[in-house]
Amino acid sequence: MSKMIRQLVTCPKCGTKNNMDLYQSVNVSIDDNLRVDVLNGKIFEYKCDKCGLKATMYYPFLYHDMKKRFMIQFDPNNSYDELTFKSIEQSNPMQGYTYRIVNKPYMLIDKILILESDYDDRVIEVLKEFLKASNNSSEIRELSFALTKDNSYEFICINEKGEAIGIIPFNPDLYNMIYDRFYSKLKDYRHYHIDTDFAEAFLNEVEL
Ligand SMILES: [Zn+2]
Repeated sequence: MSKMIRQLVTCPKCGTKNNMDLYQSVNVSIDDNLRVDVLNGKIFEYKCDKCGLKATMYYPFLYHDMKKRFMIQFDPNNSYDELTFKSIEQSNPMQGYTYRIVNKPYMLIDKILILESDYDDRVIEVLKEFLKASNNSSEIRELSFALTKDNSYEFICINEKGEAIGIIPFNPDLYNMIYDRFYSKLKDYRHYHIDTDFAEAFLNEVEL
């Protein structure tokens, strides 16, 4: 089940209060349209009935995919209590789930697409570090996993301002190399935040 609340949100332009549907949780196995709405950002759209302003308003919610067995807590305000997530994890009777917390909108999409694929997100984060290091552009801050039109994968390069500035193709051979080299260690890491900071810290640890 997905849970939604209707809330009055004040228009930042004209001050009118409009209803906005805010999801507290989204179950994409029951409603596949919600998956699309999350990926294209529609779930965060706010429209003012009076002045017509359209804005994107990010709010926290739980993304749940029962088929692919993962839950992602989107935490844009960086205020989510991990203990809540721990209790969700502990009370879930279904085994083999992956639990993650992400803070930024592009990280939410990145994480959904990785966990839907058959690739391990910890390996992907380490792969991203190697790709960033081997790429000459110092502008690249993050890489975001993405689907191409012909259903293969690529990475979108993101700069400091959060803008897309290029594409790096996803190379499965390189993924397999990283997997073979690091997975035996990576598999023991059960953090909720699997991101750039995680991969940097991991590489510092194993390379010492
Ligand atoms: Zn307005």
